[in-house]
Amino acid sequence: MPKFDVVIVGAGILGLSTAYHIKKRNLAARILVIDKFNAAGQGSTAKSASAFRCLFSSYTNYVLADSSVEFYRHLQENLRIDLKMQWTGYLWLLDKENWRKILPVLKSLCRKGFGFKEYEKEDLVKQVSLNIDLTNDEEARLMNLKNVYKGVFIPKAGIVDAACLVEFYEKEFLRLGGEIRYGIKAENIVIEPCESFGIPNEPYFWQDSRIAGVKTDKGVIKADKTILATGAWISEFLDVLGIECFIRPKKRQIFCIPAKNEALKQLLFTKGFNPVGCLPFTILPHYQILIRPFPSEGVFWLGYADEFPRAFKLEEDPQPEKNFYQFGIYQVLVKYFPQFKDCRPTSAFAGLYAINTLDGQPVIFEERDLIIVGGTSGSGIMKADAIGRIAAALFNGEEYAFLYGGRRFKVSDLGLKDRRVEQEKLII
Ligand SMILES: Cc1cc2nc3c(=O)[nH]c(=O)nc-3n(C[C@H](O)[C@H](O)[C@H](O)COP(=O)(O)OP(=O)(O)OC[C@H]3O[C@@H](n4cnc5c(N)ncnc54)[C@H](O)[C@@H]3O)c2cc1C
Repeated sequence: MPKFDVVIVGAGILGLSTAYHIKKRNLAARILVIDKFNAAGQGSTAKSASAFRCLFSSYTNYVLADSSVEFYRHLQENLRIDLKMQWTGYLWLLDKENWRKILPVLKSLCRKGFGFKEYEKEDLVKQVSLNIDLTNDEEARLMNLKNVYKGVFIPKAGIVDAACLVEFYEKEFLRLGGEIRYGIKAENIVIEPCESFGIPNEPYFWQDSRIAGVKTDKGVIKADKTILATGAWISEFLDVLGIECFIRPKKRQIFCIPAKNEALKQLLFTKGFNPVGCLPFTILPHYQILIRPFPSEGVFWLGYADEFPRAFKLEEDPQPEKNFYQFGIYQVLVKYFPQFKDCRPTSAFAGLYAINTLDGQPVIFEERDLIIVGGTSGSGIMKADAIGRIAAALFNGEEYAFLYGGRRFKVSDLGLKDRRVEQEKLII
């Protein structure tokens, strides 16, 4: 196989956004993307709820999401590339304690141009027939459910089709002369001494060494720069090299409920929140169970990002768990939204979050000609464009990346050595 300027392992949303932005800025470079699956975006990208929001507790995450979402808006509205973007908004249902916690975050983001609308609980009852007061419900008390105190509606949020985004980056990368090979599994990273002495099993610790490509099930691919964008599978490659990336996999599940009866149809097509005429992406109080509307399909997607005691575990084909819905999500959901009574999912799927255990923000750094791009912690679709631009700036040896819209972003802020980001508190 010929030597490449760049080999990127992983054709998920991050690998392809990175490939596109590097290629766009280095047209002469020979860049190859490989993936073990037979098509693009078949890893966690395909398992995503594919929603976006410009609300994070950390300013860094806010900027990454906000600029990416503006880029997607530009594709959709100016370039007429249909990403199936719908501005449903996010409706955050909050108990009293969480309202107090989130208020300072909202106020500080407001000063930076962020908009939100406050809903009184009584208005929510009228608009979505929500149970706000669970005080006299013995089961709710046992489950530690809280009363709804306020609703916060974020208009700059919604849903998009991750497959359309993937297709955009893949097509544009190929159009610029990039190369992609599917069905190739990277087995490990190739390490070489900078100067070879021909000794068996070199390099040794006293030799300068670098990453020179990947060994795959179809042969070795050599490159000047190797980029790992393997999502939840990233630490698999780095652990054996003794490189810490603080990225760990955790299963996340989505359950699909069709709006079959009148009450559910009314809820799904709730008017008054957004131009779509549907329920916003809604987050329940305390346990933050999410209801993702899918109006074009007439269904709701339900999910919950459980923490303790959900294992950090790498699974090749993670499966949804029936009991997780039946004895978990359903029990909480039906207390707030009785419209879901007796509803069972008609389908379900599961994928993996690649969680950055340090601060819940992406990780982009280089070590010995190996660039690592990952740790999206459950919000990689909505931040993918900014991440691709930052990875391209790192590749080009630049101190700052320019995000869509012109914001300057210091590349080392997402690195590990000089990392400068705040802890993200709004991971759902
Ligand atoms: C249930 C769920 C809901 C989510 N909801 C949202 C949401 O609403 N909004 C949002 O923004 N994000 C959401 N996310 C997160 C989002 O899906 C991820 O952040 C994003 O897809 C990460 O993209 P990636 O390219 O890093 O990873 P992936 O899409 O997993 O891509 C990694 C690629 O690397 C390839 N690969 C791995 N190992 C090898 C190997 N050995 N050889 C070759 N190729 C390899 C894989 O095949 C895969 O295609 C959700 C995730 C889950 C699981």
